[in-house]
Amino acid sequence: MTQTECKVIRASDINPRFKYEIKLHGAEKLMRCFQCGTCTSDCPIARYSESYRPRQIIRMAQLGLEDRILDSDTLWLCASCFTCTDRCPQGVEVASVIRVLRNLAAEKGHIPQVFKEQFSSILESGYAYKIPELRVKRRETLGLPPLPKGNPESIRKTLRGLKPEKLFEKSGGD
Ligand code: SF4
Ligand code: SF4
Repeated sequence: MTQTECKVIRASDINPRFKYEIKLHGAEKLMRCFQCGTCTSDCPIARYSESYRPRQIIRMAQLGLEDRILDSDTLWLCASCFTCTDRCPQGVEVASVIRVLRNLAAEKGHIPQVFKEQFSSILESGYAYKIPELRVKRRETLGLPPLPKGNPESIRKTLRGLKPEKLFEKSGGD
């Protein structure tokens, strides 16, 4: 479901504790939002997406529509540019709210497949994407220096305490 689709809100859809959970994770100013729409009008992603609207995400978070937000792939479109945070007249840290929501979604195992693949690739090779052999050869032909070797071991060490593999277990590969 996209965020712009109209859907009836039932009492059972609302988790009244959700806003407190978000605030506890560092997005204290969530409730200051008065829905002016500045964040959406200045967001570079909203300009090119019909479904991505930071103002809606903030409102849904205020209302406690936990599952609707955390299950939505559009949450992951944010480029973390912080324009919304800089421009919000109410001082709402919109980008931080979205970061918190993504972390909560990840905890529940809701991570889009493309990010899982990138993550696996980083753990495996140190690169977010597998570099095709053809491209490596083309560099040689053009006399370009070889690409630096990735250091997946160091990345794995950095992430050791986070147990990233748990995220994949929970998601069930969706
Ligand atoms: S700019 Fe701030 S106050 Fe306006 S809708 Fe976005 S979060 Fe709410
Ligand atoms: S941080 Fe995300 S929501 Fe905010 S303006 Fe940038 S892309 Fe849009």
